[in-house]
Parts: sequence; structure tokens; C-alpha cells
Amino acid sequence: MIITKDVVIIGAGASGLFAAATAAMRGRRVVVIERSATLGNKIRVSGGGRCNFTNLNLTPDNYISQNPRFCISALTGFTPYDFIEIIERYGVRYYEKEHGQLFCKISSGDIISMLRRRCEEAGVTVIYNTKVHDIAKRGDVFVIVTNNGIFHSGSLCLATGGISYPQLGATPFGYRIAGQFGLNVIPTRPALVPLVFNAEDGANFSGLAGISIDTVVSCDGRDFRGGVLFTQRGLSGPPILQASSYWRVGDYISINLLPETDAYEFLLGRRKNKAELPTILSEVFSKNFARRWCEINSYVKPINQFNDKELKEIADSLQHWKLWPAKTEGYKRAEAVIGGIDTGELSSKTMEAKKVNGLYFTGEVIDVTGQLGGYNLHWAWASGYACGRHM
Ligand SMILES: Cc1cc2nc3c(=O)[nH]c(=O)nc-3n(C[C@H](O)[C@H](O)[C@H](O)COP(=O)(O)OP(=O)(O)OC[C@H]3O[C@@H](n4cnc5c(N)ncnc54)[C@H](O)[C@@H]3O)c2cc1C
Repeated sequence: MIITKDVVIIGAGASGLFAAATAAMRGRRVVVIERSATLGNKIRVSGGGRCNFTNLNLTPDNYISQNPRFCISALTGFTPYDFIEIIERYGVRYYEKEHGQLFCKISSGDIISMLRRRCEEAGVTVIYNTKVHDIAKRGDVFVIVTNNGIFHSGSLCLATGGISYPQLGATPFGYRIAGQFGLNVIPTRPALVPLVFNAEDGANFSGLAGISIDTVVSCDGRDFRGGVLFTQRGLSGPPILQASSYWRVGDYISINLLPETDAYEFLLGRRKNKAELPTILSEVFSKNFARRWCEINSYVKPINQFNDKELKEIADSLQHWKLWPAKTEGYKRAEAVIGGIDTGELSSKTMEAKKVNGLYFTGEVIDVTGQLGGYNLHWAWASGYACGRHM
């Protein structure tokens, strides 16, 4: 059976569905092909089930790409307020958590329902449990062979996402098709992912799992404020996830354990005290962390026995605690992926491949990665809107 459409989109995630509705609203006949049994699987789990769907403070600086300017056109063409206008029309209730991050009030299912309704209203067909066996281009027509029929279309859009969280349906399919059509793919690595201790730090700190400390984590010239969480294997929490996107094997991260306090002044204020340093530090950290950190650094003695130089050294270690992680927790635990389709291959206005008329990419499959805070989903909407208006 041959089914002819104007647009075939592969992947019923955030970007594919948004692009589909945008194109169908222009009168295009659109089919979305999805390999799993449901749509929007990553949206469902996003933001802890409440979906941090955009960020009011969004700027191009919140994105990582080999070409940091590529995202500007799409982000300017579709802003957080454009998305808010749509979800308000569909009655999605939301709130601002902090730093401009917008979350659903009830659940991320509200965003999925909104996308489904938009697609239905615009006449988009979504077919599930469908495996794409082969894609070819004959003249101006793409031929997409699946286990649910053969599709012909003038436009083909790959919205297959990045390879993070493969347990939710992510595949490298989009990269493979880009390669098939001669497009360059930037090598990928996990982003927004917990970091794993090296063997020595693992032995020293794995007993602290569950402890969270308000910090500033620095990596590669970027600073991120928030709670660092100790896990059995390493470190997690928002500032670690943020730093992980800039971290590479061999790099260190620096942690300011007292971001609101001048550590030297704090220690000086207590230097006449007879208590041991771990007891002093228990004023600002959990008892277990204070003791362990002092033991590792051989700082266990009464504070009045440290001289000035030593107190300065301790203060410096508290505000610039350097750690050399061994690796990240990998794609299985990564909320995003760095790398993907080389932006140099695509039009920044339409997401169409420069070398292949009618071939589009949208969302996380492209080498544009947002920081934590709703930026990745906003890229999915903005890039989907850009190609949906054109294909
Ligand atoms: C745990 C977690 C939490 C997150 N939380 C947030 C958050 O709060 N805010 C935020 O901005 N971002 C968040 N993200 C990131 C965000 O979910 C993604 O950036 C976004 O979903 C990417 O959209 P996409 O449409 O490009 O890809 P996806 O949403 O991944 O959609 C790709 C679709 O393509 C399908 N597919 C793949 N291969 C094939 C194939 N061969 N054939 C057919 N279909 C295929 C997949 O099944 C999937 O449905 C989170 C990610 C994770 C993993």
C-alpha cells in the first residue's frame, strides 16, 4: 500500500508533534511515524512529571552548539510567550518555579494532551508501533518503507531526538539518515547527567549518599548555583547536571561549598574555639559531611591549633574544592545530548538540509543543546515551528 502525503515526520516527540501541527495548520497533509506505542514519552517524565516546558529568561547563551549563533533565528521566531499563548488557549495551568522556569501545575500529561489535540484539530495522522525499514529519495519524492505501508512525500522531517534515555525510545536513527544523505554529524556525548567519582573519591565519599549541599559548581568557565547531591557513585543535583554539559574526561570541577560566606572570615571568627574543625564546620554542613571532608584533608584537630596560613588554606579548599570525576553516568541517565546533526548542514531559518531539498531535522537530533531549565523543550518547539512553517 502506498500512502502519499505532503509531509512525513519520523518521531512523535515534542518537536515532531509541534512541527506536524504547524505544517498541517497551513493545509499540508501530514503523517507522523512513531516506533513506540505512545507519543511524547520524554515529555511525560520531564521536569519530574511536571514538564519544565520553557523559560522566560531564555537567551541563545543558554544553548551549547558548535555554532552558538545557529539557534538565534528559530528562538527569535518562536519565543516563550508564543508557547504560553498556545497553552493558555488549551487551558494548560502552569506556574513559574524559579529563575523563569515554567512548569505544569497538574502534570506533563497536560502538554501531551495539548499537542495531541492540536494535531487532531489540524488533521495530522499519527501512526504508532511503526518501524522504518528504508528511506530513499527518487527525484523530488521521499520513499519511506515501513512495516505499516510505504509513504511517499515531498518533505521528510527527522524528529527522532537525541540518544539520551534510550529506555524511552531514543535511537540514533536520525544520525544514520543524515549520514545516508551525506550530512555531517557532530560526535555526541551525554549532557545534563550525574558525574561519577574517581576510585579514590568514591572510596572517600560514597558513604555520604543522600546529603545535599548548597554550592556553586564551576566548570570550563561557567558557574552554576544550587544543591549538589551525593549519590552512591558520585555527584548529582542541578549544578552538577549543568556542569556536566561543559565537562570532558580529564577536566576537574570546582565546588564552592560556602557560596554565601567568606570562609576565611568564618574560620577567623572561631579561631579561639577549642572545638575540632569538624565540629566547627557542622554549623554549616551536615555532621557526616563535615567530619568526612576534614578527615580526607587531614584537618581533624581543634581549630585553635591551626595557624593563619593553614586557616587560609582550609578556607581556600572550602571555596574551591577541586574534584576530578572519572566519567558521567552515560546516556542512560542523561537528560540531553551534546552533538548531533551539524548545524552547518542546515538552514537556521527552516531546518532544511542545504544539500537535500525537502529533508528537515528538528529538535534534539540537531547539534543544539539547552542548559537545565526548560531550554531543551523550548528548542523542540522553536525548531519544530521553524520547519513546520516551511515544509
Ligand atoms: C528524564 C528527562 C527529563 C527531562 N526534563 C526536561 C525538562 O523538564 N525540560 C526540558 O526542557 N527538557 C527536558 N528534557 C529534555 C527533553 O525531554 C528533550 O530535549 C525533548 O523531548 C526533545 O524533543 P525531541 O522531539 O527532539 O525528541 P523526543 O522527545 O525524544 O522524541 C523523539 C521521538 O522519536 C521517536 N523515535 C526515535 N527513533 C525512531 C525511529 N527510528 N522511528 C520512529 N520513531 C522514532 C521516539 O520514540 C520519540 O517519540 C528531559 C529529558 C529527560 C530524559
